[in-house]
Amino acid sequence: MSQDNKKEFQLELAKYLSEKDFIYGPEPELYGPIAGFYTYGLVGKAMKNKLEEVIRESFTSNNFFEIEYPLISPQVVWEASGHLKGFNDPIVNCSKCKATFRADKLIEETTGISADSFKDEELINTIKEHEILCPNCKGRFNLEIQRQSLMMKTTIGKDTIAYNRPETATTTYLPFKHYVNFFRGKLPFTVFQIGKAFRNEISPRQHLLRQREFTQAEAQIFISAEQKNNFEEFSKNQNEILPLWTEALQKSKSKPINLTLKEALEKKVLKNQAYAWAILLAYNTFKSMGIPKEKMRLRQHHSDEKAFYADDAWDLEIELNSFGWTECCGIHDRTTYDLEQHSKYSKQDLSVRLENGEKVTPHVIEIAFGVDRPFYALLDIAFFRRENDSQRTVLSLPPKIAPIQVGVLPLMKKDNLPKKAEEVKKELKNYRIYYDESGSIGKRYSRLDAIGVPFCITIDHDTLKDNTVTIRERDSLKQTRVPIKELNEKIGDLLKE
Ligand SMILES: [Zn+2]
Repeated sequence: MSQDNKKEFQLELAKYLSEKDFIYGPEPELYGPIAGFYTYGLVGKAMKNKLEEVIRESFTSNNFFEIEYPLISPQVVWEASGHLKGFNDPIVNCSKCKATFRADKLIEETTGISADSFKDEELINTIKEHEILCPNCKGRFNLEIQRQSLMMKTTIGKDTIAYNRPETATTTYLPFKHYVNFFRGKLPFTVFQIGKAFRNEISPRQHLLRQREFTQAEAQIFISAEQKNNFEEFSKNQNEILPLWTEALQKSKSKPINLTLKEALEKKVLKNQAYAWAILLAYNTFKSMGIPKEKMRLRQHHSDEKAFYADDAWDLEIELNSFGWTECCGIHDRTTYDLEQHSKYSKQDLSVRLENGEKVTPHVIEIAFGVDRPFYALLDIAFFRRENDSQRTVLSLPPKIAPIQVGVLPLMKKDNLPKKAEEVKKELKNYRIYYDESGSIGKRYSRLDAIGVPFCITIDHDTLKDNTVTIRERDSLKQTRVPIKELNEKIGDLLKE
């Protein structure tokens, strides 16, 4: 899509998501909005819960244990993690209207050059070379980069300076000693967290993709250096295939290459077994959320964009209709950096004794993503593919993450049909139901099609005679007659498909 068409699609999608109760905002709508804050609405929150269930299931079925750490921590934690010093955005000011812009995004939007990893000097030079002017007033920029901290500051009690966490990951490392105890000191062990994080962005745009308050899901593998290349899960999965877009392929403008985990290690595309498995787990988690395979690729970080302590770093990207290829998950081999930092600042021993008696600081391999991005991606993809004639707009969301699974619709509001519908509702108590008894049946179907409800149950006069109902499938419009008593099982089967 062209840049203009993308913009148009973004606006259309945002409007749709608000009208259909997926996403309200920016908030507070009622008093005048501030960019970067959104509400998951009556339909959207139900879908987000489903999505988090899928993520949780993906991690716990692979033996990860979940924790929930406080959102707010005192200053010292963020000094140790490096966020206070290093977590900031480069900004430039317009010399005429004094407006402030994020320099890398400004360059990206006006020239298409990806400036994420640019040093201050490169940012300035690019602005000069391309003669980039203020989008507001066409004035010139002050040729000086300032650094805006992304940390959201707060106060605990009377005067203890603290910060809302900018990521869940740091707070997952902190109870490390408890994990050692729980897992009997035996590496590797695995922990994850799903929860809110905050970034004080200068001017967030891109809807749910860039918020000031968002939900992260981050999983950590604590592992010894030796175990990274002697990893059981790798052996079991070494023939699984990943679409890998290496640095070399990116530079030669070639497409990603499909390699098995085994081949990727042999060709030295990936550095170690545990890391290769972490990438596979991330990829499979996104697949199980319902993101189509052909919309995903794994992009290797360029050597100059990796953090100094990172041994290997790749992003999982999803192709969005509204924003093109978009980073949706990072997989990083962070080595011993984090535990060593927290050990140094807390003056506590964060090492583990191996079976051979040797004391080591575990390495951390991390899968990090926001829940909001795959949420947005699923709706972006479904909305683009929607069937749209004058009769019905259909959002074909994958049934297992659909916000509402079943519509229950008595054909008419009389002849005891609503009463019979009570029986149906009881039978379907395991599912999220939307009950609607008024208006034409066609209109009721289309309302539910438009928010992606995969199945509707209709109760009609035959139901009163033989206790059967009709299941209508959203995408195929197929109608099947089923006894009420078998509904629970039948819907369960259909949701698994
Ligand atoms: Zn200006």
